[in-house]
Amino acid sequence: MKKTILSLKKDKIKTIIAASEVVPFAKTGGLADVAGALPAFLEEHGTEVVVIMPYYSLVKKGKFKVRSTGKTFHVKIGAHSFVGEFIEADITKKSKIYFIKNDKLYDRANLYVDDEGKDYPDNLERFIFYSRAVLEFMKIFNFKADVIHCNDWQSGLVPAYLKTVLHKDPFYQKVATVFTIHNLAYQGIFKHSEFAKTGLPHDVFSINGIEFYGDMNLLKSGLVYSDILNTVSEKYAQEIQTEDYGCGLNGVLSYRKDDLYGILNGVDYNVWSPEKDAHLEKRYSLRTLSGKEECKKSLIKKYKLKISPEQPLLGTISRLADQKGFDILLDAMEIIVKLGVGFVLLGTGDPVYHKRFAEIAEQYSDRIGVRLMFNNELAHQIEAGCDMFLMPSRYEPCGLNQIYSLKYGTVPIVRATGGLDDTIENYNRESGKGNGFKFERYSPVSLIAKILEAINLYDDKKHWKKIVQNGMKQDFSWDVSASKYVKLYKRAIDKLKNK
Ligand code: ADP
Repeated sequence: MKKTILSLKKDKIKTIIAASEVVPFAKTGGLADVAGALPAFLEEHGTEVVVIMPYYSLVKKGKFKVRSTGKTFHVKIGAHSFVGEFIEADITKKSKIYFIKNDKLYDRANLYVDDEGKDYPDNLERFIFYSRAVLEFMKIFNFKADVIHCNDWQSGLVPAYLKTVLHKDPFYQKVATVFTIHNLAYQGIFKHSEFAKTGLPHDVFSINGIEFYGDMNLLKSGLVYSDILNTVSEKYAQEIQTEDYGCGLNGVLSYRKDDLYGILNGVDYNVWSPEKDAHLEKRYSLRTLSGKEECKKSLIKKYKLKISPEQPLLGTISRLADQKGFDILLDAMEIIVKLGVGFVLLGTGDPVYHKRFAEIAEQYSDRIGVRLMFNNELAHQIEAGCDMFLMPSRYEPCGLNQIYSLKYGTVPIVRATGGLDDTIENYNRESGKGNGFKFERYSPVSLIAKILEAINLYDDKKHWKKIVQNGMKQDFSWDVSASKYVKLYKRAIDKLKNK
């Protein structure tokens, strides 16, 4: 964080993290990893934390130790009244998570979309209810939060309620808000005709409020009404102020640039490190790298590839979405397989990519293996078993897999965008510095050129060892990022106080 932070004469900050997904309870992407890991580290920095998320069927089925609090509340949305109940569980020795239970809204197969990948038609009701529940929680449990840390569009209405309908309520007047953008492309856009359901004053539906090209935009609500904004890398914080990366919100973000920060996501090395990873064929460390070879052999077998363990094995784990660069990867695939490498993919998402990857895997089943599913255990095994990890993203707010890869000695090949650019440095043979390979231009040719460079280095065992070591020695643990979040909370509190 480059800007200076004002000091706050107060020891313990009380924070609510409002996150629509949290590891280990439910996850579709990086937000869940962040919300799951941050509380323990915030605690170490003297912050009292409560996390709030919906009670999805995934949480119900997960056999977590949850308890009913017996506390319920009502929220009116349009003509309908919804009842919610708070269920609690421990997430650290000191911190609790509260689940919002309303089976009609949340007891479904997926988090946000139906089995065909279409948004649930009542997502607006689902996340109005969630946002209102976060605020209800404070009164019901008499939890006077100093800061609510909102994340993505699902909690984007929380700051709008605080700054409008609750503005005169003394209980909420001193509650500051920090809003984290995990991915600007997902905005929670709903029709103007549904605006009344929010219960917000009419003037909120304006260009200076949550109106967005005639519709309402819940992410924009977070950007306009929160005291402080941040995103998950410094590079992405800059990129989203431009037309190319701004997804139509670059104007709002440029306007708020003095309040916009970038904090890189950390890694929970208790979960993502080859020394402790229970999912691996063999655990390993910098000193016992032969364990990585065992993991590679086991992965080759699992994917039924017919390559030798001496050939480079490339891998990727991802949501299969346009963002992730699969169009250039697929265009490059025919050439990549001819370079004498193996390739494994684990991913799920857009049916177009499912089809294309299934086809190419059938054609080159000896060298390409795909698993079109979500599988956490296999994700860990790919991190350990591959030599190189591909992330040719069109844009990438932070990206976690390239950071996990570094710790597993799996060399990232990435496009220089967002968090990928902030975390990966091209390897330099002369200085022996650098932890991976990155290319600028979004094209199959640039990707292939970098893969070729990586394969060449792989053949040079001395340099390959060096690049692997450079990555494994790096530390992206949450500790550093958590202390930056605490400073951001303080800044938000100060800002509200000085208004
Ligand atoms: P994003 O949040 O854009 O999906 P990130 O790299 O920030 O991307 O985080 C993705 C997280 O989700 C990583 O922990 C990754 O391992 C995990 N993940 C993505 N797809 C799968 C999958 N099919 N199976 C298991 N884990 C997955």
